[in-house]
Amino acid sequence: MKITILGCGASMGTPMAGGFWGDCDPNNPKNNRTRSSILVQSETTNILVDATVELRTQLNRFNLKKLDGVLISHAHSDHINGIDDLKIISLQGDELMNVYGNFETLEEIDRRCPYIFRPKGDDLYFEFLKKKHIENYQKFRIGDIDIESFEQDHMTCSSLGFRFGRVAYSVDVVNINDRSMKVLEGIDIWIVDAGSYNKEETLTHANIQKVKKWVEHLKPKMTYITDLGTNMDYKTLCDELPPNIRPVYDGMEIDSEKI
Ligand SMILES: [Zn+2]
Repeated sequence: MKITILGCGASMGTPMAGGFWGDCDPNNPKNNRTRSSILVQSETTNILVDATVELRTQLNRFNLKKLDGVLISHAHSDHINGIDDLKIISLQGDELMNVYGNFETLEEIDRRCPYIFRPKGDDLYFEFLKKKHIENYQKFRIGDIDIESFEQDHMTCSSLGFRFGRVAYSVDVVNINDRSMKVLEGIDIWIVDAGSYNKEETLTHANIQKVKKWVEHLKPKMTYITDLGTNMDYKTLCDELPPNIRPVYDGMEIDSEKI
């Protein structure tokens, strides 16, 4: 299985609109970050996690023409505002593409963009995605990839984390309950939110100290931090973090067999 980091930026990206790089070195291409999203691939199956506002450019970068399903972690704008870009990909297939999320997330998307899931009634606009409700804790399968969802505390709402075999993705999370920790046990690779960097008090995103505590407990072989803000320079992070915790960058590929 291959994981591609399509984007690893915080909600505003790096640089933010207006060219604000913060503490990030503009000369390091690894600091150029679109909003957080990953692609999970086997030989035959492509799964997208989250539909960011940069989805079109993210998919075109990898010349990706087919998706077998889309998982949505939660309905915050930076994770769903590119959902219209899925229209052409979905309509290329024999059937409309499934979008998986918990009830709260999918109903919020439906409330904001009802045209996505049902025809408008004017015979001009037709639905192009199908809602697929999943529970906060559910095992399911897309193509030949097994997935397990688990609930995460994001303070303003709960988000879903996803486990794919021995790989897990936890974006936009500040606390993880015991049940979800159990789901994460035994992973080799963890891509996890550390968007609060080194602040002492965190509200909606985990910080590095918290990620280190989780890693101490779970002991994945490799942990990659994502949802990186403009205060998180790539090289500075590489220098600060232990070798088993690394920052990601847009376009990074992680081969689960090679860890
Ligand atoms: Zn969020």
